Amino acid sequence: MSSQQALRAALLSSLVVACSSQRPADTSAATAEAAVPSRSTSDGTPAASSAGSPGGAGSALGGSAAPGAGSSAASGAGSPVVPAAGSLAASGAEPRTALAEPTFDAIAGVLFADRASPSAAAASCPPSTPPDARVRCLFDLRYRGDAKAAGLAHELFVKWRVVAGVEVAHTMNGGYRGMIRLEPAVPTGAERKHLEWIVTAMRDFDDSFAALDRRAAGAEVSRSKRFRFEPITLRFMRSVAARTPSAYAHDWTVAWNLAGSLHRSADAVRETLFHEIFHLNDYAHPPPGGEAWSPSALGATFDAVVKKCGTSIACLGPYSPNDTIVRGGTYYSFQPGNGVREYAAELAVRYYREQRAELRGSKAESPTGRPPAGAARFKCGPPENARAWALMRDEFFGGVDVVPACGS
Ligand SMILES: [Zn+2]
Repeated sequence: MSSQQALRAALLSSLVVACSSQRPADTSAATAEAAVPSRSTSDGTPAASSAGSPGGAGSALGGSAAPGAGSSAASGAGSPVVPAAGSLAASGAEPRTALAEPTFDAIAGVLFADRASPSAAAASCPPSTPPDARVRCLFDLRYRGDAKAAGLAHELFVKWRVVAGVEVAHTMNGGYRGMIRLEPAVPTGAERKHLEWIVTAMRDFDDSFAALDRRAAGAEVSRSKRFRFEPITLRFMRSVAARTPSAYAHDWTVAWNLAGSLHRSADAVRETLFHEIFHLNDYAHPPPGGEAWSPSALGATFDAVVKKCGTSIACLGPYSPNDTIVRGGTYYSFQPGNGVREYAAELAVRYYREQRAELRGSKAESPTGRPPAGAARFKCGPPENARAWALMRDEFFGGVDVVPACGS
């Protein structure tokens, strides 16, 4: 990228990104300390949320995101759930049979996490009701007043065992941005669009991974090497007097801010959701003695690029998986304080974007509409890209890559 292009990219950029995620609880203890940055953005916030403090937004946001995560409501949903039947596509890091169905009480705990007694809230769906109808009754109750929203939330559960409920009210330490109050919120009425976007994104993941699986037919792909996008728990909330974080992830849970500045379109939502779910997968693939896959697998490559380029937008351009530039900073993937986990999440998004485009015979375009930061095919950029791409491909995508080889 020329310096003029870099300048234009910087000017075009309006996103400020920071996010927080935590390792899934079932991989190890000490969840609250395991906070890492993940993605969320705010348009109006100057500079990177994480710039001023190492670990910045990650530890700050993630660390205090724990109240919900550790609460009985969260852990009630904690046993991730599994569709009783379905395709083999992208079912996750574990065989589905290893994942328990959520109990009625666990589902009620997520849907009514804002109530002192979720079971009391669910009393009008009595045990005498047949099990499937009783679950449907819960969704109708939670999304009362908006039958379409109830139907979408129920569809998420039936198709992907995504339990879409609410976050527990708490105050998050937003680092330099101060404390951010997060309130539980139900996406009905004008906010139903979030459910629509998320259902669309889940269908997209389902279809794309099924297609990738077909391409891999005949190859022995270990289930442990698959990207898991379902089942997960979704917790809706709304930030008070802030538009950040747009989302954060922990414990196979994605918390989703109805006021989040990133959630502007179906395309943007798909990529944000993928980014967050990658963080969950990253922590589900730790090396021996480690916390997450990305620091050990990609750390050396990432560090070498940072050493070579620092924060220079022109220098980092060819290495950046995504085009997002932090206002007043540099590419989000290399923004100081974000670390290799954010680079990895953006690389995963780029991987998915390119596979998806190839499957559809379309161009791999970013939702921002800006041209790619580097080569059109990421792996055909500098050798560091090819290395990182191959590691990502083999660890999370069963070695499948439908993007044509470089030089072809
Ligand atoms: Zn992130």
